[in-house]
Amino acid sequence: MSSADASPPHAPPVRAVVRCHVHKFGGSSLANAALYQAVTALFDDGARQSAVVVSAMQGVTDALIALLTAARAGQDWAPAWHGLQQRHLEAADRLDEHGRHGLRETLGHEFATLRDELAALAGGSAESEAIALRLPGWGEVWSSRLMQAALGGEAAGWQRLDAREVLVVHPGELGVAVDWDASHARLAAWRAQHGNGHVVLTGFVARDAQGRATTLGRNGSDYSAAIFAHLLDADALTIWTDVDGVLSADPRLVPDAVCLDSMSYAEACELAYFGAKVLHPQTMAPAMQRGLPIRIRNTLNPAAPGTLIAATSQPAPSPVKGLSLVDRLAVLELSGAGLIGVPGTAERMFAALHRAGVSVTMISQGSSEHSICCVVRADQAQRGREVVEAAFAEAIADGQVEGVRLTPDIAVLAAVGDGMVGTHGVSARLFAGLAQARVNIRAIAQGASERNISVAIAASDATRALRAAHSAFWLSPATLSIGVIGPGQVGRALLQQLAQALPRFAEEGRLDLRLRAIANSRHMQLAGKRLDPDAAIAALADGEPLDLDRFAAHVRAEHLPHALIVDCSGSDAVAAHYPAWLAAGIHVVTPNKHAGSGPLPRYQAIRAATRHGGTFRYEATVGAGLPVIQTLRSLLDTGDELTEVEGVLSGTLAWLFNRYDGTVAFSELVREAHRLGYTEPDPRDDLSGTDVARKLVILAREAGRELSLDEVAVESLVPEALRDVSKDEFFARLHELDAPLLARYQSARAQGLGLRYLARLDRDGRASVGAASPAAGHASLHSRLTDNLIQFRTRRYADNPLVVQGPGAGPDVTAAGVFGDILAIAQTLGARA
Ligand code: ADP
Ligand code: ASP
Ligand code: MG
Repeated sequence: MSSADASPPHAPPVRAVVRCHVHKFGGSSLANAALYQAVTALFDDGARQSAVVVSAMQGVTDALIALLTAARAGQDWAPAWHGLQQRHLEAADRLDEHGRHGLRETLGHEFATLRDELAALAGGSAESEAIALRLPGWGEVWSSRLMQAALGGEAAGWQRLDAREVLVVHPGELGVAVDWDASHARLAAWRAQHGNGHVVLTGFVARDAQGRATTLGRNGSDYSAAIFAHLLDADALTIWTDVDGVLSADPRLVPDAVCLDSMSYAEACELAYFGAKVLHPQTMAPAMQRGLPIRIRNTLNPAAPGTLIAATSQPAPSPVKGLSLVDRLAVLELSGAGLIGVPGTAERMFAALHRAGVSVTMISQGSSEHSICCVVRADQAQRGREVVEAAFAEAIADGQVEGVRLTPDIAVLAAVGDGMVGTHGVSARLFAGLAQARVNIRAIAQGASERNISVAIAASDATRALRAAHSAFWLSPATLSIGVIGPGQVGRALLQQLAQALPRFAEEGRLDLRLRAIANSRHMQLAGKRLDPDAAIAALADGEPLDLDRFAAHVRAEHLPHALIVDCSGSDAVAAHYPAWLAAGIHVVTPNKHAGSGPLPRYQAIRAATRHGGTFRYEATVGAGLPVIQTLRSLLDTGDELTEVEGVLSGTLAWLFNRYDGTVAFSELVREAHRLGYTEPDPRDDLSGTDVARKLVILAREAGRELSLDEVAVESLVPEALRDVSKDEFFARLHELDAPLLARYQSARAQGLGLRYLARLDRDGRASVGAASPAAGHASLHSRLTDNLIQFRTRRYADNPLVVQGPGAGPDVTAAGVFGDILAIAQTLGARA
């Protein structure tokens, strides 16, 4: 049987053999000897010929430029030179353990040459200019030697080619341009001498038309790789770096940036031109000419597929592919009534800038033509202003033109994507995001290709603007950064409910609730991305000491659109923070009754803060998960008027009075309720009526009444004599409650009435809580177990009151009330219900 017969019917197609694969490693992938060794495993793709373009070791180009500057300034450069040599020799010793490649000697000579060059610079040699031109490129030379040794050297089939031997460049309109003919010829000559094997190449460096060694500009090794891919007629180009690919924004500024699967050359060019450091902006041109796709991959995570840059890109979920920032810019604005309708003004302005070599990043002109503004590099701004003023000197003297205004400290934020073409609302989304982050836009430009919208903003707003714009395009509008305080019973139940609901929300993609912080009274745990709600409480054990200001600042993260704090603490001190949090735009949700029923001025401060800040919701403070406050709100908001509220506002007291019929002593029922967990640890907290009074105050204030807790007439069921004794003594003397209550009950029965513990707010604003005898037929007489019951009498519900009734206590239903508030806020932020 032939081997063809043996192959399975649907064998995968054999991959075409790669003729030549160019790999480029940035300094970020080459920090030490171990990394040089590690990356060699990445070339094993069966390519007939591999070319490896290397940058300098991480930080080396910066160090060389610092040496250059120091030598020119007459400062002591020797220690830094020595340190740099040391670092390279250490790497050489590891990569060439037995000295087979003679690395130590070669590097030693080259460092000696560098030392002579620095000395010459310091001495003001006639060679200074040529030295300064080539000096920054030393790092690539050394790096290529290290890489060749890591790969086993010539013995293993790896030649080394110093790009300065073959690559000829000259200054061009858009940066350094390649002299293709000369470079091809030189490469062919080199090949004739060295054969067609694998090769290690220096990135970044080249020679100029005068034959002097030079560089392609900072970050230029990407460009080198694309140039050599072109020269070598490669059919694959991979740029290896330290991130998974091209991300939607600089990950150092936007922690939520996502990796893009694919981009078009045009998108990549725009993004790189507008500052995305991951690629040199000129990289795309040589690849584009050959139709050669570029793959960006992560040395540290080779399993990730990376980003493919090719002629067209796959449609992405967002019309914007990426966002980037250019900083150190300034705005030049030429304005004056005399510019209106005068042809050639723009041309005159830009011709003047062009002649002076001032490069223009962005141009914006209103259709009134009253002003033209452009964004230029900060270091060229003064010069730019002078040349434009000179070009319009006459018009300025005549008063037709006001002059040229220079605004320093500007950054440009660019949104880039082929998908923006013809898509409605892209700029609206961008501007809405920036407005929400209170970023002021100085100028706007949209390229006619519609592939780029750029906005000039104050440099001090740049990061905030980038984060806000990113969340406007990539995050669900209902992305909430959440902090939970005080994980007691209710907090725990809430975390469980969140843990259950989050996977469903994620699947539906409508809501992104991110638990990012948790605190108890002593500790807090802050997470950059998110905490698992199931593990959050355990994470508190190794948390840091509580600092509520830092906690709030962390929750209010700039890269996430909304922030929310859930206070399940029951603490008055925490409630005191609400006004500041709300004013900072943080939403607050709580079952803590202290804010709603605490000092009136603080309550008013909270209300005032919500007018321009976050939303405050506290549904679970009354009737746990029952829709009490929202029902009242809806009545009032639709124009109804509240006349009276009456109800059973304590689950504990409801249970006691529902059970009490005089046959079993009241004290026995209290003991039973305590055993069942229906009371607070100290039942006096329920029996005193204060908790009920707090709820009544909350309802009254919600209805617009300025009621304070001390204005509520409270009947405590705890006899005077038992109020200040210990809990044990209280339980021992519990029977002292019985006689007065039995008397009350019997007198009610005698009149055919029942006995309940009721809260009441009457039409004159009088508020009271205490045991009372509602008439037969009163809704409270039909409630069950721990039911809460609130009846609203209003203008519309005058004769037959509106009643909200149901279980109104317990951690689960209370947490559900809190969760409901969180979802209600999310809904106002744009989550689809
Ligand atoms: P290399 O040394 O490999 O050339 P660079 O440091 O020049 O690496 O570029 C990679 C870095 O660029 C990343 O580590 C990242 O911090 C930064 N960066 C900025 N913008 C982006 C972006 N949009 N996508 C990916 N990385 C970006
Ligand atoms: N080493 C050079 C630089 O740091 C070139 C590069 O890394 O691309 O700018
Ligand atoms: Mg780079």
